[in-house]
Amino acid sequence: MIYAARIHTVSRMSILQQTPGAHHAEPTDPTPRATSSGLNRRPIKVISYGGGVQSTALLVLAARKEIDFSTFLFANVGDDSEHPATLAYVREIAIPYAAGAGLEIHELERRRRSGATETLMQRLNRPDTRSIPIPVRMANGAPGRRNCTADFKIKVVGRRLREHGATAEHPAAVGIGISLDEIHRANRRRSESHEVIEYPLLDLGLRRDDCERIIAEAGLPVPPKSSCFFCPFRTVDAWRHQRRHEPELFALSVRLEETINRRRAALGRDAVYLTRYGIPLTQAIPDASPSDGSVDEDEGVCDSGWCMT
Ligand code: SF4
Repeated sequence: MIYAARIHTVSRMSILQQTPGAHHAEPTDPTPRATSSGLNRRPIKVISYGGGVQSTALLVLAARKEIDFSTFLFANVGDDSEHPATLAYVREIAIPYAAGAGLEIHELERRRRSGATETLMQRLNRPDTRSIPIPVRMANGAPGRRNCTADFKIKVVGRRLREHGATAEHPAAVGIGISLDEIHRANRRRSESHEVIEYPLLDLGLRRDDCERIIAEAGLPVPPKSSCFFCPFRTVDAWRHQRRHEPELFALSVRLEETINRRRAALGRDAVYLTRYGIPLTQAIPDASPSDGSVDEDEGVCDSGWCMT
């Protein structure tokens, strides 16, 4: 697979300016490239930026020089898949803030072998897709195995790091925004050979509340929870909120669940669901179901820090 990058802010001298003849480097990319001799090699350090509370706190901490990271990689699973509020926050708040602080946010997209970009929603709707990449729930409510996080985030970031010189011998440091209250999601065993996972918020002993305070102190709005709007890890409250306040997104979620189950029925397979209730979304989240308007997703069971940070 190959992947493309959309580069946003640049406030530093480009690698092309620094390294005559380095024609393959992207002009605005400051990530140090390995030399064939291994000399002048500086460790590659990036933050996996999800546009959520924890990784935005890392952005502010980097601006305050309290953590040693200046490059943030946002693996966008698709403009038709990420929650629109997250995309708006990344593009309208985080990227301008990063530019002002001399930091960089690089937006990465997945590409197929053909060179075409592929979003998670497109993958889910591909007629030839037999397996479902998202953690849809079985009739008993248990989430199935997923490869969306690996294919659309971990591999996209990993390819980027390898392209810029990360190897098993000289791995890149990848900072993940897991806060102390979610320490159960920290799992260094998942790291690829070319990367070493770091948890700056855990090292600093910061909780989600601290992250919100840090963001507010920087004069930034606190971002919404970041995840695909149809993610089966969403809580019931989040679904209620979507049905009531984001009816267009809810309709798309309903259509996706129906599409998945039409295809499974044709293959003679049992139905799966986006909620843990074992019934279709429109029944699981009735129109008149109570909602306090909050989108608390603390029950979310995503077991890694690559999503929802
Ligand atoms: S937010 Fe959910 S659906 Fe989206 S990539 Fe992560 S686990 Fe998959």
